Amino acid sequence: MTTSSLPNPATNAVHAGREDLPGLGLHVPLIDLATTYPMPTVEAGGAAYDTIAAGERPDAESTLVYQRLWNPGVDRFERAVAALEGAESSVAFASGMAALTATLLASVAAGKPHVVAVRPLYGGSDHLLAAGLLGTEVTWATPETVGAALRADTGLVLLETPANPSLDLVDIAAVVAQAGEVPVAVDNTFATPVLQQPMRQGATLVLHSATKFMGGHGDVMGGVVAADHEWAARLRQLRAITGAVLHPLAAYELHRGLQTIHVRVRAQQESARAVAGWLAGRPEVSRVHYAGLPGADPLGLLGTQMSGPGALVAFRLAGGYAAASAFLEHLDLVTHAVSLGGVDTLIQHPASLTHRLVVADARPDDDLLRLSVGLEAVEDVIADLDKAFANLP
Ligand SMILES: *Cc1c(COP(=O)(O)O)cnc(C)c1O
Repeated sequence: MTTSSLPNPATNAVHAGREDLPGLGLHVPLIDLATTYPMPTVEAGGAAYDTIAAGERPDAESTLVYQRLWNPGVDRFERAVAALEGAESSVAFASGMAALTATLLASVAAGKPHVVAVRPLYGGSDHLLAAGLLGTEVTWATPETVGAALRADTGLVLLETPANPSLDLVDIAAVVAQAGEVPVAVDNTFATPVLQQPMRQGATLVLHSATKFMGGHGDVMGGVVAADHEWAARLRQLRAITGAVLHPLAAYELHRGLQTIHVRVRAQQESARAVAGWLAGRPEVSRVHYAGLPGADPLGLLGTQMSGPGALVAFRLAGGYAAASAFLEHLDLVTHAVSLGGVDTLIQHPASLTHRLVVADARPDDDLLRLSVGLEAVEDVIADLDKAFANLP
């Protein structure tokens, strides 16, 4: 089955990857936990293996061979993500880092191990590139210096927008223009396809930590890369052979999460706007990072590249590290924890946690906190933050 692309993305989010269910007499997808599948004949098994191992879709009657090669529920989730991102296909992995790993390995395998990466990135992504663990070599760039950093062996340009944790917006089309023939991969975890579809700006690959807004409830890990058929086939082959597959139960949860992603992200964004505005008026806060605040979108990307500023807010405490760490100890409703994008509000200290492995000169400043605003009544979130300010030494 090909990717659906209904004109209204909210309708797509509810129905994509489920188009065939009524014809099957089903209302929700069945969960197929099988690790292996019976084969009608040796020839049929071998032919199915070849098809799937080449990154292609097995026919409806085909044996699926083995869960590491194919799972029907994972396929449904992938079709849904492709529809939401406006991509031909998508490939799901066990985590966001597994999705990035496969993307980097695909470049290395193609003989192009050089990566141009725009900082800041998620700390794990930064560290993976800085360590060169996968045989990549990185050149760090700003959005303006991407073109100058390219080499003959550059296989990938990687960026995040909004970036983690500064929440700076990067002009995707401007980076794509500099990259020329080199594929640009955009980590769209913070924006989600609800607010931004980077393929419209010319991105070749769109990565997600599905653990965050796609799952949306803090109870499932996954990663996904949206791409054209050719890239998807390469990534599927890599996934089959390196093994970082998405579990069928996780695929079910992530696919269900997509059904509410439009309402969740929009509602969380409205609360984040209110929280950002409130934080900006606090004397204990020296700066709020949120593109929705006046003057905070110098490139004018809101309303064009990204429909709204999103549900993440970062802010700096005038009292520096001491104030930031004390602040976290006085919260009750808001949970001090890494991760983001779930229904409950989370806050964390990037320099100590998510960006701990980033080299010192690129690590976020230690007065910075990052807040992922959830679906609680916003006045309750603000009251909890207010109490923590009141308790600062
Ligand atoms: C969390 C995160 C990742 C890593 O994803 P996991 O699912 O934790 O492996 C990558 N990029 C961004 C922007 C993230 O927030």
